Amino acid sequence: MPFTFAILTALQLAAFGGSPADTSVAPLPVRRLAQGVYAVPGDSGRGSEGRPNAGFIVTGGGVVVVDALASPRQGRQLLAAIRKVTRQPVRWLVLTHHHPDHHFGAVVFRRAGARVMAHPDRRVLVAEAGDEALVAEWTRVVGADAMRGFELANAADRPVTDADTLRLGGRTIVVTHPGAGHSPGDLMVWLPRERILFAGDVLVEDGVTMVVDGGTKPLLGALTAIEALRPKIVIPGHGLIPARPGELVARTRAYVIGLRSDMRAAVEGGVPMRRALATLPPPDETRPVSLNSRRRRNAVRVYLEEERAYMGLESSP
Ligand SMILES: [Zn+2]
Repeated sequence: MPFTFAILTALQLAAFGGSPADTSVAPLPVRRLAQGVYAVPGDSGRGSEGRPNAGFIVTGGGVVVVDALASPRQGRQLLAAIRKVTRQPVRWLVLTHHHPDHHFGAVVFRRAGARVMAHPDRRVLVAEAGDEALVAEWTRVVGADAMRGFELANAADRPVTDADTLRLGGRTIVVTHPGAGHSPGDLMVWLPRERILFAGDVLVEDGVTMVVDGGTKPLLGALTAIEALRPKIVIPGHGLIPARPGELVARTRAYVIGLRSDMRAAVEGGVPMRRALATLPPPDETRPVSLNSRRRRNAVRVYLEEERAYMGLESSP
């Protein structure tokens, strides 16, 4: 009955805010954190290499999604997960930053009618060769199937460069830029009433936040800002949600401070970079964000930071 089907579809589109349940993908598992607040946990035990964490907040005025995951397919799986919880339309997609694993699913939410809140600074090392090269490279990582229907959709409809409070359906959602610690476009999402923080990649489960797109000084500032919030629950960009958020913050800070002091000592002692890095395990060649690769790439970055500071140059490399 094509006519009836057409009417049903139209009704569903109206009721579901333009995005009927997508039965062609498996919904991702969801974890309820508080009333109306959900995490969509990614992989754990894989550091920055696995599927990132995402989340969503259901309000009386629609849904706010935090991050869109790594491909249109993952975006659809995330949307399917949201659809299992609520029929509210998705109003906003907040991107914690502009690394492809966090926003390459964004087009799915745009097509479902969401607008994007993001930092306007979209520069990231991985896109240095241009968007086309990045998309080609990323397609090799996640597969052409997962990328079907892809369009870049991370430009901000509502840019956030400092702090912006979203009031929607009786909820308060604070989106802040904690500084360029992990990347220039870092944002965090804070729910003051529930004391829940979506930290993006400012925090990663193993405490080794990548700083090659950001810097250690703003990262340390971001860690202090997280502590000042006294969050009950923190969702890192990747990996397990820590039982005690303070421990992950402290571990991350200890790593950053330790690396800085090692590299400062090397620079001050006239130790060339190659020798300063000799104590670290070699990077994994085909895995740019494995633990070893992150530690090595961060060390290079921090050596350069310390070298510039030693020479009296303020700006970061
Ligand atoms: Zn990232």
